[in-house]
Amino acid sequence: MSQIIYPTTNLYATETLTIERGEGAYVFDNQGNKYIEGLAGLWCTSLGYNNKELIETATEQMSRLSYSHMFGGKTHQVGMDLSEKLAQMVPMDDAKVFFGNSGSDANDTHIKMLRYYFNAIGKPGKYKVIARERSYHGVTVASASLTGLPPNHTHFGLPFESLGVLRTDAPHYYRNAFPNESEAEFVDRIVNNLERLILSEGPETIAAFIAEPITGASGVIVPPAGYYQKVQAVLNKYDILFWADEVITAFGRTGSDFGCNTMGIKKPDMMSLAKQLSSAYMPISASVIKGEMFEAIKQQSRDVGVFGHGYTYSGHPVACAVALKTLEIYLRDGVFEHAEKTGNYMQSKLKAFEQHPLVGEVRGKGMIAAIELVANKKTGEPFNDGAVGSYAMQACQNNGLICRAVAGSSLALCPPLIVTEAQIDEIVEKMRVSLDQTLEYVS
Ligand code: PLP
Repeated sequence: MSQIIYPTTNLYATETLTIERGEGAYVFDNQGNKYIEGLAGLWCTSLGYNNKELIETATEQMSRLSYSHMFGGKTHQVGMDLSEKLAQMVPMDDAKVFFGNSGSDANDTHIKMLRYYFNAIGKPGKYKVIARERSYHGVTVASASLTGLPPNHTHFGLPFESLGVLRTDAPHYYRNAFPNESEAEFVDRIVNNLERLILSEGPETIAAFIAEPITGASGVIVPPAGYYQKVQAVLNKYDILFWADEVITAFGRTGSDFGCNTMGIKKPDMMSLAKQLSSAYMPISASVIKGEMFEAIKQQSRDVGVFGHGYTYSGHPVACAVALKTLEIYLRDGVFEHAEKTGNYMQSKLKAFEQHPLVGEVRGKGMIAAIELVANKKTGEPFNDGAVGSYAMQACQNNGLICRAVAGSSLALCPPLIVTEAQIDEIVEKMRVSLDQTLEYVS
């Protein structure tokens, strides 16, 4: 097992799988076994493996300028070009971009920018953030506090009380609706709960509401129609900012360019980006804010003398060059349009698994989906631990499909955006065999 403390792993029980190389949508282990990457690594390798253009871009940039920081006004052309390209692409007004290295640190940066901003405009008491149950926003101290999943809190002493994280409902109709409640009634109930929370805490204390447009690690929750429209109406009423955590959903993943556009979210005030920003060839993230926030922050930093936040690798030139090339490939090759078409195909094929005796719900949009396994198909009763989900994930792996069991017993699929319909068929067939084997195991 080596000396590694493995991340997000059962450190007691784990068997390892040594991945040696990747090619297109496939990875190969050190025994020569081939797997189709049904989760694009960790929801990130959008352009697949061994993309020659990205490799050449990284190599060339390393030769020209392997490192330069961005403190105190130093900059470089690829960083400026990337920020300009991102500002053009995001559905926000006059966007400004802060670069980091991971989705977690992008969210930490946003928490700090919120505080800095509200201090700057004379509202220092407006610092709390509303996050949802069953959300995933990362694992650093602040971002893990936003995350709404118990394993990311238990024994870590999280969430940190002083951060002021408030919790509201997960918009998962299948799991959380009352008996006989319609989707519209469910939406009204949870949006009313949100408004009640805002009023009981005091709107003047709440800075922002954070949401993944469609969740990933918590089981691919696609909120019912009308949910975000109603949430945004409430937030606007109380002057609370909308913060879109698009670390998974950005760049073609959900059937359009951004998850906000797929889900009808109007102009978020802040956006967190990472993962597919560079197709995971280099670690890079972006915390994007609207121009109005930036102007206030800029003014404040003049008074203080410095905007005292930055990482050694903020705007790493190799990561910026690779991200810029990734965005160029997305737009040049119509990757989002391809993903929309292939994603529709994937959703229609996966939907058929709702007939399977083990499956309670199949959900998703575009190229992201989850198949929820249940103990009782009629009542939707969940399995009481993650053992069946883990078994099914292992069965998939044995059959040459990499996927991920999330939120107990949901199997998540999120293949590279470049997969073909034939490769979707391959994923579906391997999933079918694995589900049948899992059914045999539980029977
Ligand atoms: N936000 C979302 C929505 C994520 O899905 C993730 C990771 O999966 C993160 C934040 C954290 O990103 P990272 O693992 O790069 O820190």
